[in-house]
Amino acid sequence: MRPPVVRFAPSPTGRIHIGNARTALFNYLFARAGHGRFILRFDDTDAERSREEYAAAIEVDLAWLGIEPSLTVRQSERFPLYAAAAERLKAMGRLYPCFETADELDRRRKRQITRGLPPIYDRAALALTADERAALEAQGRRPHWRFRLEPRIVQWNDLVRGESHIDTASLSDPVLIREDGTWLYTLPSVVDDLDLGVTHVIRGEDHVTNTAVQIELFEALAGPEATPRFGHHNLLTAASGEGLSKRTGALSIGSLREAGVEPLAVAALAVLTGSSASVQPVKSLGELLGLFDIAHTSRHAARFDDHDLAALSAKTLLALDYDSVRDRLSPQDILGHKAEPFWLAVRGNLARFADVVEWWRVVEGEIAPVHEDVEFLHAAREALPAEPWDHQTFAAWTGQLKQATGRKGKALFHPLRLALTGRENGPEMAALLPLIGRARALARLP
Ligand code: GLU
Repeated sequence: MRPPVVRFAPSPTGRIHIGNARTALFNYLFARAGHGRFILRFDDTDAERSREEYAAAIEVDLAWLGIEPSLTVRQSERFPLYAAAAERLKAMGRLYPCFETADELDRRRKRQITRGLPPIYDRAALALTADERAALEAQGRRPHWRFRLEPRIVQWNDLVRGESHIDTASLSDPVLIREDGTWLYTLPSVVDDLDLGVTHVIRGEDHVTNTAVQIELFEALAGPEATPRFGHHNLLTAASGEGLSKRTGALSIGSLREAGVEPLAVAALAVLTGSSASVQPVKSLGELLGLFDIAHTSRHAARFDDHDLAALSAKTLLALDYDSVRDRLSPQDILGHKAEPFWLAVRGNLARFADVVEWWRVVEGEIAPVHEDVEFLHAAREALPAEPWDHQTFAAWTGQLKQATGRKGKALFHPLRLALTGRENGPEMAALLPLIGRARALARLP
């Protein structure tokens, strides 16, 4: 099998959310599994609603998730291709001009419904003679253009949903070009998929109804061999059951990033919700790939709870080894020989990665020690072992203090933690103490 070529095709009319990330990641992981290519295609034919700043933000969001496209294209730069395809369809008699106004169409639809007929476009425009068309154009009417469906039962073997079919006789001939000459999504998408050699169209199930029309278009323009395979995954819904929307900005990738959620936690939740594997922390997109199987995605709505994200994010941090965070620690000046043991000590105590800065201050900087029980802390100071220190030092020190003072449990440990870290809770003292070091420990004890 030749390597797959997939595309993620957002319209840059808002920020992408975790549901869009699901589509992007399904495509990306699918491409990666087959050593193929992932194309980012901006569906920006709607000049009014599309904005360059959204396109730029989507690129940033994808990069943050770990997705690097092999190629990025913009539909707004590809209009001549669509015009050429439209001309070919016209020459084949598959694209025909229509002059009905929205009102006329509406009235016709209502009449069909009262007669108990399906409200399908009646193709009246196909019956217009050349003279009648010319007369309409002379009145200043401009046509919109419809694709003449065959009609037939269009079948495809969906990567997620299995054998699928739609009877295109039940559909109106779709409008491909509006009266003002602008493109609806249908034709440009097919033309690009053909031009860019897309082998698999993986997208949300809200596009299932477009598929039959698009397959007819693929076949009209390039024959059945060139038609990609389709996979329609279920949509993510919020815990309330509500769909996600670009407009509300809720659960946008940007807002999750700003909230300090780990990108791998977002990716794991986006991909594994409703999959055969349970939602779990992953160390890399490569690991996520091993858990992902598009054929085993549930067909039911995939409901997720964004409250799960905070916990998943913390668990993700705990799973990350030093090598995978080194490049994020060094810009915070967390480097040198202490950096790795530091990371291993604190990674289980981070709600957000940014919290490392506070903990680094505890081992390397100035803190405000809290002296709860000065007499005991004096004794602790006296008993502080000589260096070198290791993971056993804290146990040796507190063991000795326990014997000397009869203290145990919280009464023994809590004053030490407060004095040495200035905090009530945190990573194991056994790991922190050698990182703090004797000089700093002495300075923090009264
Ligand atoms: N621009 C379309 C969307 O965002 C792309 C659909 C497709 O993948 O074909 O829904």
